Amino acid sequence: MYFDPVETLPRAELEALQVKRLKHTISLALHAPYYSKTLSNAQITPNSIQSVEDIQRLPFTTKDDLRSQYPYGMLCKPLEEFVRLHASSGTTGNPTAVFYTQADLDEWASLMARSMYTCGIRKSDVLQNMAGYGLFTGGLGIHYGSERLGCLTVPAGAGNSKRQVKLIQDFNVTVAHIIPSYAMYFAEFLKQEGIDPAGLPLRIALIGAEPHTEEIRRRIEEMLHLKAYNSYGLSEMNGPGVAFECTEQNGMHVWEDAFLIEIIDPETGRHVPEGEVGEVVMTNLTREGMPLIRYRTRDLSRFIPGECGCGRTHRRIDRIQGRADDMLIIKGVNIYPMQIEQTLMALPEVGQNYLIELFREGVMDQIRVKVEIREEFFEEDMRKLQGLQKRIATRLRDEILVTPRVELVQSESIPKTEGKAKRVVDLRD
Ligand code: AMP
Ligand code: ZN
Repeated sequence: MYFDPVETLPRAELEALQVKRLKHTISLALHAPYYSKTLSNAQITPNSIQSVEDIQRLPFTTKDDLRSQYPYGMLCKPLEEFVRLHASSGTTGNPTAVFYTQADLDEWASLMARSMYTCGIRKSDVLQNMAGYGLFTGGLGIHYGSERLGCLTVPAGAGNSKRQVKLIQDFNVTVAHIIPSYAMYFAEFLKQEGIDPAGLPLRIALIGAEPHTEEIRRRIEEMLHLKAYNSYGLSEMNGPGVAFECTEQNGMHVWEDAFLIEIIDPETGRHVPEGEVGEVVMTNLTREGMPLIRYRTRDLSRFIPGECGCGRTHRRIDRIQGRADDMLIIKGVNIYPMQIEQTLMALPEVGQNYLIELFREGVMDQIRVKVEIREEFFEEDMRKLQGLQKRIATRLRDEILVTPRVELVQSESIPKTEGKAKRVVDLRD
């Protein structure tokens, strides 16, 4: 039933393991130029940790800290010990580079294999990785995990949907790893090509790497005729394989033997009450080359209270509800793009893509939402389309409390990227 006995370790034992590993992580981190300074300043030694609660005595690490240490300031070992690097998909300033020793890669592959097993993938499956290879961790990270599990692995990469279909058919591919925005596009592609997804061997999709709502998951499942499981990770914590859904599809188990997770109030830095939304903070417990301590992910989620029906004891987090730095402030109101997505995707007329534009009119910030409409609805008469436009604007206003301009556009008219979707464009100067 489980890939690793640690998945069902009683909580007390799991926490004891975390304490032991956290102490070890601190002793390693003290060899990194950055942590030797910050931990010494805070007078932290491995002995500062007696219980998991003591994590709160340690200083946070931010993305800016990583940037300021670019490229080598976070490394605990001589450079020759490292065998790979990845970089995060940041858009401004220095990227953040993450380095792995061979032991780190082995551990990552095991966590990834465990994650895949958790959502029902077995060695007899054939997995096609439809995500970009390269500096993005969703390529090699998923790839080595799939091989570790024993699956025949097809390194297709992103894009070229025609070839993707052929590979799926020729090699009887049962599992796809695919970014949600590409999954939506791919489903549309199949429809246009007249290929019935029910006739494809695919039974599972791993979707992650970018925020998406439950509505999107359901659409992917229906359109591609498979089960879709949420996969969460970030380069700073290896990449994918940090938290994964089990077959219950009710939250993602965080692999707490490898990551110490906290959820904090981003303003105060204190833990939020169990079950409340806050910023996810992560500490590596099993990485030797570049462990990060209390890394502020900027991702927003919450612990799902209670036990999971699958029997795993590792706590679950809810799907990522956006990033602390994704928040838009329009006319003084806080808006998260995911609220907009949720509202749009609940409407059957809405197609697979949308774009949020921020612009200025006089001195006022305004928000415009371009919404792709399904082909069959776009052909309807003007009056009906205007009615739909109004209905979308009203629904959005009810959700986000400001009235956006809504522009209906033809399906596939919003530009797509091969990697993570860019949902917000800021046209203000
Ligand atoms: P990168 O390290 O560049 O691959 O980006 C990692 C970031 O992608 C995370 O911090 C999240 O913001 C986002 N991300 C990854 N997986 C998911 C997921 N399953 N749901 C929502 N956002 C995700
Ligand atoms: Zn579970």
